[in-house]
Amino acid sequence: MESTREWAEKQDSEDPLSSFRAEFDLPPGVIQLNGNSLGPLHGGVPEALDRVVRREWGEHLIRGWSEDGWWDAPVRVGDRIGRLIGAGPGQTVVGESTSVQLFNALTAAARLRPERTVLVSDAANFPTDRYLAASVARTLGLRLVETTVDGLPGVLARHRGEVGPVLCGAVDFRTGELWDLVRTTAEVRAAGGIAVWDLSHAAGAVPVEVDAAGVDLAVGCGYKYLSGGPGAPAFLYAAARHHDRLDLPLTGWHGHVRPFDMADEFVPAPGIDRARTGTPHILSLLALEAALVPLERAGVAAVREKSLRLGDLLVRLLADRLPAPARPEVVTPAAHHRRGSHLALRCPEASSVSAALMERGIVTDARPPDLLRLCLNGLYVSYTDVFDAVTALGDVRKEMSG
Ligand SMILES: *Cc1c(COP(=O)(O)O)cnc(C)c1O
Repeated sequence: MESTREWAEKQDSEDPLSSFRAEFDLPPGVIQLNGNSLGPLHGGVPEALDRVVRREWGEHLIRGWSEDGWWDAPVRVGDRIGRLIGAGPGQTVVGESTSVQLFNALTAAARLRPERTVLVSDAANFPTDRYLAASVARTLGLRLVETTVDGLPGVLARHRGEVGPVLCGAVDFRTGELWDLVRTTAEVRAAGGIAVWDLSHAAGAVPVEVDAAGVDLAVGCGYKYLSGGPGAPAFLYAAARHHDRLDLPLTGWHGHVRPFDMADEFVPAPGIDRARTGTPHILSLLALEAALVPLERAGVAAVREKSLRLGDLLVRLLADRLPAPARPEVVTPAAHHRRGSHLALRCPEASSVSAALMERGIVTDARPPDLLRLCLNGLYVSYTDVFDAVTALGDVRKEMSG
């Protein structure tokens, strides 16, 4: 690995994924390193939306529900996302926000273990996950115990026989640290708990095999690595073995066994259909469906492999091209099996640095207290992008210290 722009250009010319970048409608000169927050617009999405709006909605009106497949969209798109996370068909549904799906999943997880009194929540998780874990615990009268994923075995041992739902993030949204989902799921289940994973920073980014790992329930965002657009609906996965007993708190009519009977009482549909709520956000849902196409074509494994190479290049360039005082510390673990798809750099005034990079067309973000996040999505980030971003980072740091 060399530290020259020519070397980076050569990698791009040999990269089997290089043609995908041009399919995304990025403005010229913009380098999108923030797909862990909002994935970019793929050219297939406006086309799909135009068809949905003008032809399906505009011309077909209510017939869209049957003729255009709107009714089946939550489970159809769910199955497509399922394939990206190692879920067999009929276990994933799409709709609502991640926050709402978290409430739904966590409450249902607790109801699968009615005799258990403790709800465990990942202390490093995204705020909404922690807030909702606290709220579900309060609503159901459970004791909330927060711990890091590292500390989980200790918590399970201390609360032997008491732990019901355990909510963890597969990738730390701040540091980019990737947790061992297989091992942690096995630990939770061995303790009699229900493993609920937030895959927001994992789905479409790192290979995940929820079925093989024995995950109980999972949720994740549609607008990060799945690039479904702002406010894209989230997904909920529930392992088939739980479906019959899955008692979800959001009992909307679309989850009813016979929705058009308009019955007095809620009777859940069999299978994952019971996790549907009300009328889905069809426009957002079908935008998300179109956005999955490039990722499906490329394959998560290929995207992941390139993302790791981009990450290795970033670390290498920081070491070679930024003199010590300007060089930020890489907080994300170096080992590939411990690293998600963004790298977090510790750098004072991270939000000012991110703003200065934005002025140069390089989209990153900052998270308190001092982390700059650079998302290296192999689907549309090139080796030259990484080279140019490091050059710009060096310039920004020099200006800010000068
Ligand atoms: C991005 C993210 C969310 C966001 O939830 P919304 O309801 O979509 O705002 C939740 N959890 C995690 C772990 C995330 O990374």
